[in-house]
Amino acid sequence: MKAKDIIKFVKNIKKDWHTNDPYEIAAHYGINVEFTTTCMKGFTAHTIKMKDYPTFISINDAYTDFSKKLLCAHELGHALLHADCINHFAITNKNVITNVEQEANLFAIALLADDNTLSTLDVPLTIADFKISVIILLDFSVYT
Ligand SMILES: [Zn+2]
Repeated sequence: MKAKDIIKFVKNIKKDWHTNDPYEIAAHYGINVEFTTTCMKGFTAHTIKMKDYPTFISINDAYTDFSKKLLCAHELGHALLHADCINHFAITNKNVITNVEQEANLFAIALLADDNTLSTLDVPLTIADFKISVIILLDFSVYT
């Protein structure tokens, strides 16, 4: 999917629901969001999307509210943009940064950016990906 198309898709979602809150938007689409405290060290968030089952987004509750919102926006990107799959937020250098990860990151940035920022948002997917990675990595102190 082209970056321009993702941004347009997100703009329409914001217009349709009159919000950019990923939790509210998830609820509108019948997507369940849960916060988990019983997860492995280093777990950020993931989406479970299967045919004929409600989609679930799980987020590590140890993160700050801001990061949780960002993670939710990223996972919402997977839930709405990508086919049935189980997705993990790949941000470590052990994981290959795939195109679907970059798309979900751009979705998150486009969703959370205000409209003024968005109108000038013409960033390559790799930059969106880098920005999100930095924000989440800065929040890694929750594990120390
Ligand atoms: Zn992801």
